[in-house]
Amino acid sequence: MKIFQGIPVSPGVSIGPLTIVDSAVRVRRRKVEPRQVEQELERLATAFPAAQQKLEANRDAVGRQLGKEYAQIFEAHLLILNDPKLRGKIETSIRDDLNSAERAVEKNFDQYAELLRGLQDATYAERANDIVDVKTRLLNELLKANQDSGAASERPAILVASNLTPSAASNLDPAKTLGIAAETGGLGSHTAIVATALQIPTVLGVGAFVAQATDGATAIIDGDSGRLILEPTDEMLRKYVAKRDALRREKELLTTNYASASAITKDDVTIEISGNIEFPYEASECRNYGAHGVGLYRTEFLYLSQNDGKLPDEETHFQAYKSVAEKMEGRPVVIRTFDLGADKLPEGLTFASAKEPNPFMGLRSIRLSLRNTEMFRVQLRAILRASVFGKIRVMFPLVSTITEFRQAKMIFRDVCEELAEENIPFDPDIPLGIMVETPATALMLELFVHEVDFFSIGTNDLLQYTMAVDRSNKDVNFLYEQECPPLIRLIKRVVDVAKMYGKPVSLCGQMGSSPANALLLLGLGLRSLSVAPGMILQMKKVCGNVTIKECEEIAQNAMFKETSSSMRVYLQSEFRRRFPETNEYDA
Ligand code: PEP
Ligand code: MG
Repeated sequence: MKIFQGIPVSPGVSIGPLTIVDSAVRVRRRKVEPRQVEQELERLATAFPAAQQKLEANRDAVGRQLGKEYAQIFEAHLLILNDPKLRGKIETSIRDDLNSAERAVEKNFDQYAELLRGLQDATYAERANDIVDVKTRLLNELLKANQDSGAASERPAILVASNLTPSAASNLDPAKTLGIAAETGGLGSHTAIVATALQIPTVLGVGAFVAQATDGATAIIDGDSGRLILEPTDEMLRKYVAKRDALRREKELLTTNYASASAITKDDVTIEISGNIEFPYEASECRNYGAHGVGLYRTEFLYLSQNDGKLPDEETHFQAYKSVAEKMEGRPVVIRTFDLGADKLPEGLTFASAKEPNPFMGLRSIRLSLRNTEMFRVQLRAILRASVFGKIRVMFPLVSTITEFRQAKMIFRDVCEELAEENIPFDPDIPLGIMVETPATALMLELFVHEVDFFSIGTNDLLQYTMAVDRSNKDVNFLYEQECPPLIRLIKRVVDVAKMYGKPVSLCGQMGSSPANALLLLGLGLRSLSVAPGMILQMKKVCGNVTIKECEEIAQNAMFKETSSSMRVYLQSEFRRRFPETNEYDA
């Protein structure tokens, strides 16, 4: 038995066989029998032209949308793909070393990339990233061919990887993914957010462990404590089977008691508990758990789960938004315009930010929308068209100046006029809101209140930019703690100012999904929280068992805490005092 400690990012327990996967796609690293060599070579021969076709299509599409200079990236990728020496090495690796086509591609591309990185030159290092891109593309083709022939009808398994991108995570089949463990990644990473959305127990930032894992061996993921256990003893296995069963029973009880209940405090204050979604099907979960609405629809996952290397067209957007609006049956749905860039980069599509040295500080989110207005308009048209099927609100992410909001609003109004001219119906009164995700916006909120219809506090980014800490970097994860005094002060400021001007304010960052933190947030004056769908019932239970008065006292005391850890210890002790029956993992 080997036990590793990582960062718990998605709760629950999973037990099962593990599968070691490539960073981006689910590929077994296997050897083949001599009689299978020809078949593997044939698979390779099919994958190359398929990858070439996609690259050419991307080159043309990106050239049209972003300009020729961005299309050149794909020319470089095509050159790598067509390098005869590399291709020869891959074929030899299949023939002589009996590697599967995937393994041969992975090995040879990785060696090539390593060689370039070793040259310690920035230009070569960048080229190494291109090589990894092309490798992923080829692996995707091989994987797809596998699935087409039914060869990859894998059994459900715990996936372990050195790194799992948000884009790869959004393509996982939750029915076949029991749990996830990765060497990299942190609490605020979008991989963590997707895993939570899919309700897959997940541990990230484990550090080097994949080399010690054996494909097919039994593993346990404890998404509450952050433990990853490889090849557990019988005693450990028994303990975790009991914990998994207890969790299931608890969930059933919550559903019975709270699915159709409202979130009303003991002193009769109604709290809106909405759900954060990444995929349209999650809207049904929100409705089934009796959510107030969808408080955050992260529409960028429409781009991330598109695995044909193309941007979703207006119809694809429209169908997704219409289905969410309809599923919510008149409850409010806040559609956030695409928040791409930084760690959210669609596989196969290259945005300018992919090559930035500092992508979280760079061309992401609303900045990317305002730079690529054609792409932005396609999405806005679809949202507006879907607005007649429900109660839709539009929210812009990462707005850091009033000018950005004004520009986005101007484009929005222009798209409204365009639809009106085409006699396409839409809701003319859609409220326009912003995410408060930068200290700049929090500090300048008095300016925004006159023009913005509603605010939603995005604590995941607000924490990242307040503490100057990369939210997905495990090495600085100790600074990424949500119970962070400066963050709490900014939240208080935003809530106070919004209330003073009568503007609706909600909070949709991960922080709100922690029941212990909810006591503080209610005490700070928030009456609307949008949480991971799996936490909606739990949050209703918390609201129903406290008074606003006691939460206000907690918030007042919390303001005196000097550090994140003393704040967390305090909030958890207040929570446990009120909910002693709750397991450690729930707080
Ligand atoms: C946030 O930053 O808190 C947020 C909700 O947005 P995302 O996590 O998608 O960046
Ligand atoms: Mg954000």
